[in-house]
Amino acid sequence: MKHVFPTYDRYPVDIVKGNGTVVKDATGKTYLDFTSGIAVCNSGHCPENVTEAIQSQLANIWHTSNLYECALQDSVAELITDGTDKLVFFCNSGTEANEAALKLARKYTGKEKIITFEKSFHGRTFGSMSATGQAKIHQGFGSLVPGFTYVPYNDIESFKTELDENTAAVLLEVIQGEGGVIPGNAAWLMEVQRLCKKTGVLLIIDEVQTGLGRTGTLYGFQQTFLDPDIFTLAKGLGNGLPIGAMVGKEHLSSAFGPGSHGSTFGGN
Ligand SMILES: *Cc1c(COP(=O)(O)O)cnc(C)c1O
Repeated sequence: MKHVFPTYDRYPVDIVKGNGTVVKDATGKTYLDFTSGIAVCNSGHCPENVTEAIQSQLANIWHTSNLYECALQDSVAELITDGTDKLVFFCNSGTEANEAALKLARKYTGKEKIITFEKSFHGRTFGSMSATGQAKIHQGFGSLVPGFTYVPYNDIESFKTELDENTAAVLLEVIQGEGGVIPGNAAWLMEVQRLCKKTGVLLIIDEVQTGLGRTGTLYGFQQTFLDPDIFTLAKGLGNGLPIGAMVGKEHLSSAFGPGSHGSTFGGN
């Protein structure tokens, strides 16, 4: 490829067609796809009912903006909240979902410090990159967003040392994905949640990779008795279309009124 920035190390295969679990490359060779993108195509490639729904929407209207009501957006939000009283903010990617979560947590609590974990991954924009506990991802980009502190994953003592009265939120993955598929210890996760509740610190779970059924429950945190204040979704949510969402408890909406945050395409 000559005309795009070389930010990816690509395999020399150009996949041009897909159906269910089978894909075909430009030379006509077929493959059984065990990757589904990067945790994206949970429903397989080009699922018929979704393809039809998209085609029919394309023939109706493409974009109305968030200046208007949208019953369809609200019904998708209802499915995402899965019978809870949470609310949804729509965006276009995982990193944006985390940006929304970080902004909401700071604005709601009026505090700045966010605890995240070594080897975590939360995205590539400045806020989410700053939340990511990996030096190689920060390298060369100058000053990060202040306020983030990284502690070892699955280690309650170092977490307790960092948790203080300036802490707005804790952001974690229930299974670290990019960090090497490292599951959070259930007892550790429950203790982190208990300490957050006790101190009024918001618990944010990044479900961008673990969400949408990839661990066997709709959301990865449902494997334990976790009840996050906020969680974030993308990847499998759109099965390949750029859709992200930040989901949070209803009372947090006092900090996310009109004008506080937005996205041109969010919920499109
Ligand atoms: C992929 C990923 C992100 C970033 O999502 P993008 O859509 O690439 O911005 C954030 N968090 C986790 C856990 C991820 O795996």
